[in-house]
Amino acid sequence: MFRIVHKQRLSEDVKRVDLYAPEIARRFEPGQFVSVVPEEQDERLPLSIVDADTDRGTITLMINEVGTTTRKLGGMAIREEVYSVVGPLGLPARVETPKTVLCVATGIGTARMLPICRAFKRGGSKVIGILGARTKKEVILEAQMRLVCDKLMIATQDGSYERRGLATDIVQPLLRENRNDPKGLVVRASGSVGMMREVCALAKEEKVPARVYLNPVMVDGLGMCGSCRVKVGGKIVMACLHGPEFNGHKVDFQDFERRLKTLGGKESCPRKESVDNRRKSGFGIFGRFLGDILRPSP
Ligand SMILES: Cc1cc2nc3c(=O)[nH]c(=O)nc-3n(C[C@H](O)[C@H](O)[C@H](O)COP(=O)(O)OP(=O)(O)OC[C@H]3O[C@@H](n4cnc5c(N)ncnc54)[C@H](O)[C@@H]3O)c2cc1C
Repeated sequence: MFRIVHKQRLSEDVKRVDLYAPEIARRFEPGQFVSVVPEEQDERLPLSIVDADTDRGTITLMINEVGTTTRKLGGMAIREEVYSVVGPLGLPARVETPKTVLCVATGIGTARMLPICRAFKRGGSKVIGILGARTKKEVILEAQMRLVCDKLMIATQDGSYERRGLATDIVQPLLRENRNDPKGLVVRASGSVGMMREVCALAKEEKVPARVYLNPVMVDGLGMCGSCRVKVGGKIVMACLHGPEFNGHKVDFQDFERRLKTLGGKESCPRKESVDNRRKSGFGIFGRFLGDILRPSP
């Protein structure tokens, strides 16, 4: 039913996969995601919809192969069928146009940012993209971002491409340069928690609204399990139902990071080997999630 119709390697760990899913393609709005189960016995995988082609009836996903299920999906071949795809899930991104928008993305967060940049551009906004990566090899979707952005700046930590440093190093001067833009300046950030927190702090100093795309551990994506609880404006909300986009000035990043650490999210566990070892010991994502909800809040 959900056949893989196209597949392409974008970097060492990231693959593009196009799936035949006409109903989802028809209903997709930028910022939304799907929950994918590669084979019947597998865990559900929340993945952002990067693009949809209503003529071909396909959706485009980008997979960062970090663990068991992402590697399973990334390893499937063209013409193979995926067991289940549910979506589109989550609220669409808020796209107020026309504005000048600074879109900051690192890692796989770029996949999520691309359709949002396109939506801003379609609405007549000036889109300034900022991509961050450790090395040139980890920069993804550069060509697609160049097509949609009025200006694209890239920072690599090792200096192997464009400017040396962090994406956040570029943000402050751009905020200052554009804060009095007559269209109004807004910020969007998608990627590591540290980057999103820093971008929001810089935007707050300049009194610029900022929205972020949170990437919590998510089990069912339907609001039933509660694993993707995040604290926003002092209230607990579900990223799968009320997000994944939130007002960055209201997100409690400390609480978010604590939850990620408890559940073994990527921020605390960047090494593939440690993830694999945990899996081998039977301590999977669901066990970590149950541990979190059974533990009293501090
Ligand atoms: C709304 C949303 C959209 C996302 N979009 C994308 C995307 O477009 N492309 C992409 O590659 N990834 C995306 N992710 C993250 C992706 O879902 C996880 O990397 C994936 O679930 C890991 O599963 P795994 O079995 O491969 O890894 P595991 O072996 O389970 O673990 C590998 C690492 O990923 C973390 N992780 C495991 N399950 C989840 C989960 N459900 N959510 C978040 N982190 C998890 C683990 O704690 C661990 O650090 C998105 C997550 C959310 C919540």
